[in-house]
Amino acid sequence: MKTIGLIGGMSWESSAVYYDLVNKKVREILGGFHSCKNIMITVDFAEIEKLQHLDEWEALDKLMVASAKQLEAAGADIVVLCTNTMHLCVPAILDNISIPFLHIAEACGQEISKRKIKKVALLGTKFTMEKDFYKTYISENFGIEVIIPNHEERLDIHRIIYHELVQGQIKNESREIYKKIIGNLEQRGAEGVILGCTEIPLLISESDVNIPTFDTTTIHAEKAVEWALN
Ligand code: GLU
Repeated sequence: MKTIGLIGGMSWESSAVYYDLVNKKVREILGGFHSCKNIMITVDFAEIEKLQHLDEWEALDKLMVASAKQLEAAGADIVVLCTNTMHLCVPAILDNISIPFLHIAEACGQEISKRKIKKVALLGTKFTMEKDFYKTYISENFGIEVIIPNHEERLDIHRIIYHELVQGQIKNESREIYKKIIGNLEQRGAEGVILGCTEIPLLISESDVNIPTFDTTTIHAEKAVEWALN
């Protein structure tokens, strides 16, 4: 088994889920006393969130590169960045490490393709929904059209992520807001929805909505294990 390097803390609410998922997946595959060889580095999300909202992406690049290099130096065989948003920093990370990197949109795109879906909705932070890095990755690499919620809906989704989910607050009224938005996206032709923020699966699951959901946390964690065991 290879050692998975995880960059966590964004937020730790979802990093804890990653830790749980990689260990459960290894136990499911190997059984017995097996657990997942991994190293997690956890950043302080207060620093990250502040720089994100100041649009200081060069400073964020530096922080992500430093974390990835720490994992490499510590003996990780692969880097897994446990957040969708911070994949904005992938070009900088790739320039600075020599071990493989498992892109969350690659993992997710593979799963959407398996379902033969041609038009998918993307939920995430405003950075993930509005900047190009994620939508373009899915559309260019998988030929899947990506649509996003309207402006008001994006404000609600972003607010709930930062003011509730990353702080461990799971509220029924927010679940209803997400369900309504996903319903609207379905009406606009979405055949599936990417839960493109690693905390959204804490709030919404497939049984809440009518279309397939792509839980990026689970997909990413499980692909990392498949890679580590191959
Ligand atoms: N975990 C979230 C994501 O997957 C949001 C927190 C962050 O900005 O990293 O995008």
